[in-house]
Amino acid sequence: MVKPCSFKGGIHIPYNKDRTTGKTAELVPTPKQVVIPINQHLGAPNKAIVAVGDAVKRGQKIADAAAPGPMTVPVHASIAGIVKKIEARLQSNNTEGLCVVIEADDAVSGDEFMPPLDPFACNKEEALERIREAGVVGMGGAGFPAHVKLNPPPAKKIDFIIADGAECEGYLTTDEAAIRAKTDVVVRGVAILMRITGVKNGIIGMEDNKAVITDASSGASINLVEKLEKAVSNLKNELKNKFPGEIEVKLCQTRYPQGGEKLLIKALTGREVPPPPALPADAGCIVQNVASLIAISEAFNVWDIDKNEWSNHGRPLIKRGLTVSGGACGAPRNIVAPIGTVLADLPAEYFGVDYGKLEKIVFGGPMMGVAVPHLNIPIQKNTSGVNFFTAAETYADAEGYCIRCGRCIKDCSMRLYPVLMNNALEAADFDEAERIGLMDCIECGSCTFNCPARIRLVQRFRVGKFKLRNYVAAKAAAAKAKEEAAKAKG
Ligand code: SF4
Ligand code: SF4
Repeated sequence: MVKPCSFKGGIHIPYNKDRTTGKTAELVPTPKQVVIPINQHLGAPNKAIVAVGDAVKRGQKIADAAAPGPMTVPVHASIAGIVKKIEARLQSNNTEGLCVVIEADDAVSGDEFMPPLDPFACNKEEALERIREAGVVGMGGAGFPAHVKLNPPPAKKIDFIIADGAECEGYLTTDEAAIRAKTDVVVRGVAILMRITGVKNGIIGMEDNKAVITDASSGASINLVEKLEKAVSNLKNELKNKFPGEIEVKLCQTRYPQGGEKLLIKALTGREVPPPPALPADAGCIVQNVASLIAISEAFNVWDIDKNEWSNHGRPLIKRGLTVSGGACGAPRNIVAPIGTVLADLPAEYFGVDYGKLEKIVFGGPMMGVAVPHLNIPIQKNTSGVNFFTAAETYADAEGYCIRCGRCIKDCSMRLYPVLMNNALEAADFDEAERIGLMDCIECGSCTFNCPARIRLVQRFRVGKFKLRNYVAAKAAAAKAKEEAAKAKG
């Protein structure tokens, strides 16, 4: 067994993955309606391209770029039915956004998928266009368009394609379930990325708590590393000289936030991503979450596991796996749900929520997730989990005063000085906050987790980064105005 690699800093959190680890993801009962946000990506906004009353097939495009541009990603109907409403709804990031509400209708059925495309024979432009058309975004985080990530400027030399299977957040086991159920598809996804980018080195990274898992129903032991290595070998045999390079499986120490892109790159390659605005490509790496790799692979052709054959169509991103867990969830499980499924629409007993114990609903994990006010919120492309937390699992202590213990500095995975950043923000000294690295903060919450004074450092950094961006923009605008005034004076 290889020695697990890691990074400096970080923390051990209560992982609480035992509730769902080893559980196979189950497809939820088809919902009677879905609520699909038309913007689920980072980039230029979309516009709806269907109208109320339209009949739509599953897989049909329902929203696309409002104006042409590279940072655009379409969204698709995840069930067949009738468009009932197009209206603003609360989304999983707690902001309102335009959503297309589709109601299932017996009179409408069928799929509108894409014809199959061989990713190992088509050219790069065709492959990137296919990934965009399929609506694939980063499914582990902010929803960055996958086709843009795979097409870095020519000056940036990429040496590694990294599959992020770390899943360092507490409670979540959806990536583990996906790797286990679709091992071959994950590996194929890595190979497709290597083919598109011309990169010869692929790495599949996982935390070492996923090296061997126990099947929850049979009790059988499953070695995921061996399973992945076997899938690599199978794909090599299938593709022969079209296999694009070497793919290795590497384990990282179980340490939060190991799944952060920069930390995973450091752990797996030893490379450092420079400070913002630099991206992983500046360290010669492209990182994709395993769920996105599956979506990319299935955009070209879908392997039908039940029939054991290719289904001869490329499927857009219309469903995803997620973990539903938390102490107030009576039936924690991994599920696969159509994008736009509203959990409140599923049968109550499906999750067995104990409302007497429920303190907080969180979309995502306990460290980086977003607390939401109710369950009438749709599952989106980047929803990796929904947690029903009890009071004991939430963080409600009153804030105290900083005792200058330095623990936040020790725990910061990005080697920052959280206490000093907080002081600078309290003094509204944005120049100082920027100088000491506020924009480098990945908002992992490690500093907050162990702060004995219970200071909500990460929440302040989230707001602080927003204010700092506005401050920098205002400063630039003022400097430009001054320059123009000076020019006008002659
Ligand atoms: S961990 Fe909390 S109390 Fe300690 S230095 Fe940092 S902010 Fe202050
Ligand atoms: S300062 Fe930012 S990067 Fe560092 S531990 Fe806190 S939240 Fe994480």
